[in-house]
Amino acid sequence: MTVPSERPTAVPPLAPPAVHAAEQSGDTLVAGHTLEFPGGYTRTTGPVIGRFLTELRDGRLVGVRTAAGRVLVPPLEYDPDTGEPVTGDYVEVGPAGTVTTWSWVHAPRPGHPLDRPFAWALIRMDGADTDLVHAVDAGNVKAMRPGLRVRPRWRPERTGHITDISCFVPEVTRIVAPIRTDYRLRPGRSLTRFLEGVRDGVFLGGRCPECDKVYLPYRTSCPACGSGIDEEVRVADTGTVTTFAINNLPDPRAPQVPFVSAYILLDGADTEMIALVGGVPADQVRQGMRVRAVWLPPEERTMAMTNVRWFEPTGEPDVDLDAGRGGA
Ligand SMILES: [Zn+2]
Repeated sequence: MTVPSERPTAVPPLAPPAVHAAEQSGDTLVAGHTLEFPGGYTRTTGPVIGRFLTELRDGRLVGVRTAAGRVLVPPLEYDPDTGEPVTGDYVEVGPAGTVTTWSWVHAPRPGHPLDRPFAWALIRMDGADTDLVHAVDAGNVKAMRPGLRVRPRWRPERTGHITDISCFVPEVTRIVAPIRTDYRLRPGRSLTRFLEGVRDGVFLGGRCPECDKVYLPYRTSCPACGSGIDEEVRVADTGTVTTFAINNLPDPRAPQVPFVSAYILLDGADTEMIALVGGVPADQVRQGMRVRAVWLPPEERTMAMTNVRWFEPTGEPDVDLDAGRGGA
């Protein structure tokens, strides 16, 4: 054996020719070996596997039927349940199948069918009663699940080998469509009146003459009884948090996450409004908390709810909502 001069001299001089490297790990010598049949190992397929591979070459997946009527994919020469020869009745299956179980390969090895992470999966082809092992190129481990519907990705040049299917890929189940709609909204008479109030720093509600309820924002008819509403009511800008949500998804209209949005029952109103709660850590907001609107300075106000930056705690004792909802 010739040892190239740059090879470490740790290579044992008596190493047999099949040993092409040796390394020392602690006290243990490790020798690397390669087993290879130059030109490949040739075997005959037999009629059943041969039929399967011939159909693969032609872009079809077939199974074989057993005497009991089960369809074996890939086909076998003998029924594994009975040991009896299969019928010779070949059945085309697929083209799609369902993943029954799988194992994710984070780091593909040189001989693997894909050079990026993929799944080895058991796939039950439509029409088959047994599972086929193949690679699934799902892109991400999170895309894999039992029941995933997959289809083969065929190679354009096929030779009659299981690798004629380069891998399976998930069926298309969703698309992303860009959507943007620009539109203008006219507020109508009652909402215009409410926004005029907001511009001036007051909340305007409307009192139903029949129900005696004060609706906020101001509206010209009662949603409960249908009566016309004429009476305009100035509602306080203090109120009580009746329920709230801590939001962890950023929203361009809101402060940094986590931010709190809440239903607030303003003092003097019978319906709640949705608003942000600020000036307090999110985990300290609670139902029954008393809050007050924080208005933008008058010179910055427009006819929009953004005039209210948020509601902040007043420091008053909480309201017991179970004892009857409403403010002070
Ligand atoms: Zn009413």
